[in-house]
Amino acid sequence: MSEIIKVKAREVLDSRGNPTVEVDVVTENGIFRAMTPSGASAGQHEALELRDGDKSRYFGKGTLKAVENINKKITPKLIGLDPNAQETIDNIMLKLDGTENKDNLGANAILPVSMAITKAGAASKGLALFEYIGELFGVIPHKLPVPMCNVINGGKHAGQENSIQEHMLMPTGAKCFSEGIRMASESYHHLAKLLKGKFGAGGTLIGDEGGFAPAQVVDVEERLDLMLKAVENAGYEGMMKIAMDPASSEFFYDGIYKIGKKSFSGGEMVDFYVDLCKKYPIVSIEDGLAEDDWDSWVEMVKKLGAKVQIVGDDLFVTNTKRIQKGIELGAANSVLIKLNQIGSVTETLNAIKMAQDQGWTAVVSHRSGETEDTFIADLVVGTSAGQIKTGAPARSDRNAKYNQLIRIEEELGEEAEYPGIDFRMDHLA
Ligand code: PEP
Ligand code: MG
Repeated sequence: MSEIIKVKAREVLDSRGNPTVEVDVVTENGIFRAMTPSGASAGQHEALELRDGDKSRYFGKGTLKAVENINKKITPKLIGLDPNAQETIDNIMLKLDGTENKDNLGANAILPVSMAITKAGAASKGLALFEYIGELFGVIPHKLPVPMCNVINGGKHAGQENSIQEHMLMPTGAKCFSEGIRMASESYHHLAKLLKGKFGAGGTLIGDEGGFAPAQVVDVEERLDLMLKAVENAGYEGMMKIAMDPASSEFFYDGIYKIGKKSFSGGEMVDFYVDLCKKYPIVSIEDGLAEDDWDSWVEMVKKLGAKVQIVGDDLFVTNTKRIQKGIELGAANSVLIKLNQIGSVTETLNAIKMAQDQGWTAVVSHRSGETEDTFIADLVVGTSAGQIKTGAPARSDRNAKYNQLIRIEEELGEEAEYPGIDFRMDHLA
């Protein structure tokens, strides 16, 4: 057994240039480092992201309080413990915090420690991180995910209001993960050519997740048409499907959804998606409805759920209590998984398990404010979740994850599986 010798936190920068928390956990096997990401279109029900509020530093976004919570409060509780005791260690931190929402320590204090412990635990067993996560989760991991590559960024990630946030390509026709990423990358570059041809240099400015954010293209159908044209120009017609994340809580005002100049009731939003799905090869819609508009979610599942993956992000916030409610109501058929929404590795694994036990899918996700930490790449393989969204196939904060998946695929060799078009049903097998 190895033991935890040191836990040390510091404030570093995320991909948006905002401060975030990094943690080193030291054992005799070395230094194990993890960083926490941060959302922009964050759900109201997420665990607390503790910010200092001191306007003289980073506009109040400093994370020194979270850092201090780790160095002064969490660290003394963990020294000498076995890094393989993941659940015990997570529970120690949850108990120390003592609140439902991690209001005392902050999820941005607990999570990076939890992730660094997982990395230290893997090393202590001599396993790759994805293999060790598989052991914690109870599967033998060999499934690579189908990526959801966000090639057009809108909404909060592109400084736009009342606009659909994510327009993603899924290379379902690829034979393996690395081929899928190549198809997505080539399509992305064809999209750049189209945008540059239409709008000049400004057409290829990018948003927070590395996708293009052309201010001139506000209409969702125009965006999807451009994407499909790029796919065709790349030679992959029919081999790429579309996933969307409208992030609709961001354009929901007192019961009314607003996209551009148009207003919709919940029922009209559902019909809007039904029509869109008739015109485009859309296979997945995340947060098509707002985070507390449960009735409209149920209607959406009734009208589209058999054909389309209905993913709850802000709706569920990786929280088993909200997922349980969604299961009882029939409000979705898939859960988006973001570690920092809930704030520990154990709770994240429990959320994935709950979804999969129900026959739902789990889509492992980055945040719009990311770091160079590639934990989610190992998480998606370790849980056989089968789908990951981690931005455009561009920018190192996003490609760090895709590149780690290329390495894992190489390491698995012949054992590696890629679900392709069966990404929804494959986990039931
Ligand atoms: C999302 O909404 O799925 C997302 C990744 O954005 P953010 O991290 O800003 O919540
Ligand atoms: Mg989302």
